Amino acid sequence: MNRSFHPPRRILMGPGPSDVHPRVLEALARPTIGHLDPAFVELMGEIKTLLQHAFQTKNAMTFPVSGPGTAGMESCFANLVEPGDTVIVCRNGYFGHRMQAMALRCGAEVVTVDAPWGRALDPHNLDDELAKHPAIRLVAFVHAETSTGVLSDAQALAEVARRHNCLTLVDAVTSFAGSPLDVDAWGLDAVYTGSQKCLSCIPGISPLTFSDRAVQAVRARKIPVQSWFMDLTEVEKYWGEGKPGYHHTAPINSLYALHVALLMLQKEGLEPAWARHRLHHEALRAGLESLGMTFIVPEAERTPQLNAVSVPEGVNEAKVRRRLLDEHGLEIGGGLGDFAGQIWRIGLMGYSSRAENILKCIEALEAVLQEEGVDIAAGRAVDEAERVLAEAPLV
Ligand SMILES: *Cc1c(COP(=O)(O)O)cnc(C)c1O
Repeated sequence: MNRSFHPPRRILMGPGPSDVHPRVLEALARPTIGHLDPAFVELMGEIKTLLQHAFQTKNAMTFPVSGPGTAGMESCFANLVEPGDTVIVCRNGYFGHRMQAMALRCGAEVVTVDAPWGRALDPHNLDDELAKHPAIRLVAFVHAETSTGVLSDAQALAEVARRHNCLTLVDAVTSFAGSPLDVDAWGLDAVYTGSQKCLSCIPGISPLTFSDRAVQAVRARKIPVQSWFMDLTEVEKYWGEGKPGYHHTAPINSLYALHVALLMLQKEGLEPAWARHRLHHEALRAGLESLGMTFIVPEAERTPQLNAVSVPEGVNEAKVRRRLLDEHGLEIGGGLGDFAGQIWRIGLMGYSSRAENILKCIEALEAVLQEEGVDIAAGRAVDEAERVLAEAPLV
């Protein structure tokens, strides 16, 4: 009880958190200054500009919520839902269900539009449901469902929502910085993400952006937002235009970390970052398929940063994950909800999405599965992954 904690060395290839870039960790250790210090206020301005770039938006209301991705999700629902509103929540995995639970707690009537776990949301089904409920003004959905590895077509869903005069509330926690996301061009209204997935940053911050339409909806509320902390009309006294005043003490050092992570993303470029995630997915996929695993999501609906594969017949999946952790220092994820015990979720997010990690993961899986009695030709899977990496243009 009198020794400080030294975490074991891990490679994080689960559904998040992912590996934090060393420069981000280094930024965390810089001295704390005041949250209203002029130097910090300058940093806040840079963070807002970098976030606008990463979200591809001009939205003035763009800032990092002090809290994990779930706090960003809750901020969106708390501000955009009033008791008695009817809203649509689309569900095709764990996080869609969490959205529904939040909307209910905000006092909404929730109409759900479901797709099976492991499949993308269908814009036609959304269209049909909106046609049945012309009073609905808000549609919520998850862009990249981390519980299943599915990427839905956010642009098409938003287009349907707009046609029915609805605002969109979009979870971009896993898609941000890993897959194309264009808030303004796609007309998304309230979008939140998380720092610990494809951004190579520490957990605990949730960048968020609100369109002018969404801000107007908050200002037009009949009753104040129940959560004082999350009420954007309060938060903007700190993060809004003009000289910041006290709202809460920002997580200063975490914001140093976020700033470095955003600078690195800007330097890499959004398109190269997406291409890197795509290429590494292809390489991992070649290796996993060579190990005899199958993806649970149809090819056109996969999100590259989260690879969900079925566990081979007769294999104790929890034991394999534990052995990967203990013997190889490698963390991968198991299944959630409908998929508990049936799948592995292998993340390639942010700083974790590197060629060396792909090869290490395939080698470790091959070794453990062989020892667990699965018949695998040694070395072939790594060759397959290396072939994909070698054929690709340098990223
Ligand atoms: C990780 C994740 C969240 C929650 O983020 P936390 O930081 O764990 O609160 C929300 N939505 C999706 C799609 C996620 O992957």
